[in-house]
Amino acid sequence: MFSYRHAFHAGNHADVLKHLALVAVLRHLAGKEAALALLDSHAGAGLYRLDGDYAATSGEAADGVLRLLQAPAGQRAEWPQAVRDYLEVLAGFNPGGGHRVYPGSPFLMQRLARPQDRIKLFEMHPTDARTLQANVAQLEAGRQVQVLREDGFEGVRRFLPPPSRRGLLLCDPSYELKSDYGRVADLLAMALQRFPTGTYLIWYPLIARNEAHILPRRLKTVAARAGKPWLHATLTVKAARQPAAPAAAAAATGERARRPGLPASGVFVVNPPYTLHGLLAPALPFLAQTLGQDKHAASTLERSPA
Ligand code: SAM
Repeated sequence: MFSYRHAFHAGNHADVLKHLALVAVLRHLAGKEAALALLDSHAGAGLYRLDGDYAATSGEAADGVLRLLQAPAGQRAEWPQAVRDYLEVLAGFNPGGGHRVYPGSPFLMQRLARPQDRIKLFEMHPTDARTLQANVAQLEAGRQVQVLREDGFEGVRRFLPPPSRRGLLLCDPSYELKSDYGRVADLLAMALQRFPTGTYLIWYPLIARNEAHILPRRLKTVAARAGKPWLHATLTVKAARQPAAPAAAAAATGERARRPGLPASGVFVVNPPYTLHGLLAPALPFLAQTLGQDKHAASTLERSPA
């Protein structure tokens, strides 16, 4: 079974990029009255503790969202709109102040959904699926939110197209299996055939692996073949690390050793809201500067040719 647990990585720079983009997309989609179908093919546990053991072990949130949350409130007024919108949603999960609770994508979706919207959450890891189910139960959201313990790549198919013909699919696998990269591209191709007007948000790690390197190119090809516009944003916080020498790798233990800090990641959005490019353009360099860990910190933003 999979060993990836998102609790180690919750609130890291990759979550900041993905969740900031997710909030921007959701806020735009919620601007129209018609019901939305919100699908999360790889949902995780839903809610995380930033003061818990997982976050403390990895230290990833400390170099991610906590850098934003711990900045003096007075500074924030000057920050890019998309960053402020994201932090405003996070603040709703910590009503007494502080930064203990970090919402994953399922809870961001639910927080920004309206009563008419429906949310389907897929999670295969037995522990995380149980935790997600328990977290969702606390919401008392009734039929609005459904947790499905099944393969998200396959499971989303039967909800496409949604009856309202409006919706968002977030595809955020752990990429533990090399085959995940190909499955992401296949999922997008299938989904665009069934539901061409849907919005698709795909997250991927930018790591020294051929599959990761070529994924954005594959996604552009899939979108172009379907005649759909896309937007592609990346955030790098540090130089890619060289693989550890065998002796050092053998000496290292635990989650940190298995997943040395991710240097960069990207989000690829098909049928992006027209507001998204303008929101990300100032936010990305700001994030590179604020979350950057060395001189290699950078961001990119590109979109399909008009
Ligand atoms: N989307 C979540 C968020 O932003 O808060 C994080 C998801 S995490 C990166 C990926 C999750 O996918 C893990 O919890 C893992 O157990 C789960 N997973 C892996 N393969 C899966 C599959 N084929 N179908 C559904 N879930 C899967």
